[in-house]
Amino acid sequence: MAVVAFVGLGNMGGPMAANLAKAGHDVKGFDLSQDALTKLEEAGGKAFGSVAEAVKGADVVVTMLPAGKHVREVYAGEDGILANINSGATLIDSSTIDVQSARDVAKIAEQAGMKMVDAPVSGGVGGAAAGTLTFMVGGSDEAFAAAKPFLDIMGKTIVHAGGAGNGQAAKICNNMMLGIQMISVCEAFALAEKLGLDHQKLYDISSTASGQCWSLTSYCPVPGPVETSPANNEYKPGFAAAMMLKDLKLAQEASGAVNAQTPLGAAADELYSAFCDAGNGNVDFSGIINKLRG
Ligand code: NAD
Repeated sequence: MAVVAFVGLGNMGGPMAANLAKAGHDVKGFDLSQDALTKLEEAGGKAFGSVAEAVKGADVVVTMLPAGKHVREVYAGEDGILANINSGATLIDSSTIDVQSARDVAKIAEQAGMKMVDAPVSGGVGGAAAGTLTFMVGGSDEAFAAAKPFLDIMGKTIVHAGGAGNGQAAKICNNMMLGIQMISVCEAFALAEKLGLDHQKLYDISSTASGQCWSLTSYCPVPGPVETSPANNEYKPGFAAAMMLKDLKLAQEASGAVNAQTPLGAAADELYSAFCDAGNGNVDFSGIINKLRG
């Protein structure tokens, strides 16, 4: 069994670390929140007072942090991971961050003799607790092979998307599609309402016709057709609008950096910005139908 350091024990990192401990690994954790550290100990891990202490002697480090600036600081800062970890360790960053930060940190890690992957996830808090996350992984073949046994414990589907940063690229491209598709489904239902077309009828037709997509068939934004969708639960998340907006902004940032044309991604960013600015950041992202109804 390995010594695994885990930094960032929040809503996602907490249950992911708990699954590693449950699988028998020696999990050493650090988070800025005392509450998160207490939960780690309850789950069988050991809490430490700093990044440096947590990663000392670890074979593997997993990080699950809010954004690129936290990842840069925790890896490359003076008391960070790279200054304190044994050469040859495997580093897994599962945070959702900008592609450039992922590539920059991977490069520094590689120069220091580490194997590093970016491995953002989809599947949310439920998937983290159940160990059924999907990991989109960027890094060398060697780094992927070293990380895979640990990703297998925390997830169900593990996809190697290419070199460093490609896990983040896959995540933001996927979520840009998702945001655009959700808006398209919401617009169609809002128009159908005004045209006197019943929700269930539109669902029955489009779910087996060319308008079919995940936002319709698994996450329908109106109550009724899909029992498990947040629309049947007062739009409680689910996947919060603020998290969708974060991913859309990362997609726009990446798009600008490589001069890609993403006009619908830009429109989705604008619509979710306005929705969140109106106090709906904690509403499920399918709740944007209420804004689109006007
Ligand atoms: P969270 O805010 O619950 O957890 C982040 C944790 O990082 C917090 O406990 C915070 O105290 C800790 N932290 C921040 N800076 C730190 C530092 N310097 N050292 C140690 N700990 C530090 O967020 P989350 O929901 O767990 O999300 C984590 C990442 O996963 C984000 O990048 C998010 O975009 C991504 N993600 C979240 C979900 C979801 O459904 N929550 C789904 C997919 C991906």
